[in-house]
Amino acid sequence: MDSSDEEGEEYLFKVVIIGDSAVGKSNLLSRYSRNEFNLHSKATIGVEFQTQTMEFDGKEVKAQIWDTAGQERFRAVTSAYYRGTLGALVVYDITRRTTFDSVTRWLQELKTHSDTTVAKMLVGNKKDLANIRNVSVEEGAKLAEEEGLFFTETSALDSTNVNKAFEFVIGEIYNNVRRKVL
Ligand code: GDP
Ligand code: MG
Repeated sequence: MDSSDEEGEEYLFKVVIIGDSAVGKSNLLSRYSRNEFNLHSKATIGVEFQTQTMEFDGKEVKAQIWDTAGQERFRAVTSAYYRGTLGALVVYDITRRTTFDSVTRWLQELKTHSDTTVAKMLVGNKKDLANIRNVSVEEGAKLAEEEGLFFTETSALDSTNVNKAFEFVIGEIYNNVRRKVL
C-alpha cells in the first residue's frame, strides 16, 4: 500500500499489529489512536483499522494501522490482513512466556505474506506489570537482535513508549520508501 505520489508528497502506509491473544494489541492501538485504555476489552470489538496522520520532513504521512479483531485466537489471520503491509508491531506480554515463544511463528507468518521490506518492531507489552514479568528485557533485546527487529517495552495501561513504538515504525517505513524512491 505504498501510494506515494510522484513528488513523494503524500503517503499511505499500512501497519499491522500481530501477536498472541490478550497481549494488548487492541489496547496499544486504542491508546495510540484515541488515548484510551480498556481493562475488559473484548477480543471481537473494534474496527479493522485506524488511520493516523503525521508529518515527516513537512510531508503528510497517513498510517493505516490494522488490528486483528480477535482472529488470532483461532490462528486464522488471513492473507488479506497482511496484504500491502509495510510495517508491523509484533507484540508479546512480558508476564506470559508462551506469548514470547510465539513471536517467531508470527514473524514467519508475516514473512510468508509479505513481498517487500517490512519495518518491524518487537514490543514487550504490560511493562507496568514488571513485578510479575516472566520475560526479561535482555531476552527481548536478544531475540530482536537475532531477528533484525527494533525493540521496546510498552504499557498500554500507563502509556509508556506507546506513541514512540508506533511512530518509530512509521518513521522507518518512511525511510524505507524514501530510499526506494531516491
Ligand atoms: P489483544 O487480544 O492482544 O487485542 O489484547 P487486549 O488489548 O484486548 O488486552 C487484553 C487484556 O490485557 C485486557 O484485559 C487489557 O486490559 C489488558 N492489557 C492490555 N495492555 C495492557 C498493559 O499494558 N498493562 C496491563 N496491566 N494490562 C494490559
Ligand atoms: Mg484484540
